[in-house]
Amino acid sequence: MSSGQIQDLKNRFEKYLKILNLKNEKILLLTQTYGESAISRDNANWKIEYNINHPEYELVHEIGHIFLYIKINYEYFADPPDNIKSSIFNNQRLMLFFNYCNSLVDCFVDYNISVYSKFFNLFLDYLKEILNGMTNIQPQSQSEQLVEGYLKFYPSFNQILRKTERDKLKNKIENAIELVRNEIINKNPLYSEDIFNELNMELNKFSSIKKTSDHQQILNFLKFVTKKLPEFDNNYVDKNLLLIFPKS
Ligand SMILES: [Zn+2]
Repeated sequence: MSSGQIQDLKNRFEKYLKILNLKNEKILLLTQTYGESAISRDNANWKIEYNINHPEYELVHEIGHIFLYIKINYEYFADPPDNIKSSIFNNQRLMLFFNYCNSLVDCFVDYNISVYSKFFNLFLDYLKEILNGMTNIQPQSQSEQLVEGYLKFYPSFNQILRKTERDKLKNKIENAIELVRNEIINKNPLYSEDIFNELNMELNKFSSIKKTSDHQQILNFLKFVTKKLPEFDNNYVDKNLLLIFPKS
């Protein structure tokens, strides 16, 4: 990106903040050319790291975490508590649990910002790109990454995408979801069709709570979905959900 293009991006970023009524938040935008986009917070200062080679929806999504936090008044949907960050980083299993929870929180972020038509169009482009990735799964992709994607995109395609768009992409979506599901079952013996049937039943409940402003409802959704994942037993879910998402 040339410096002119970076400036254009920063201008659009300012416009996005305005649409979401976040002009008063202190948000530093850093651009990078590698890695995943991410958001973090240091006291009242937010930092968004955006990979400029990724779809611009990723930038909107990171802003959306702040939007969700303000709407619901629950900061841990944007950034985990400071005292748990190093534990997450140093414990592979906890990191996996955190990533799965984050995929589910992402669904609420995406739902809340995609109601704005400006963002819905970017979201749609992004989903189309994801669909192509889902139908061309890299052989080296790990089942954990695929589960992470499944938790995020199953609700996105079924319950965030608007009906007209969903109908247009119906066959492609069904095919992609089945491919990912089968790939996970092939790669991870803990997963089976039965597990997915139960998991989907919990994920389908997203549609009845996606509009919620009650963080406890979202946490319950996270709890019941992650309890269907064969990697974690009920005790693990109860204990670690509270660590990552403490009572406010
Ligand atoms: Zn996110």
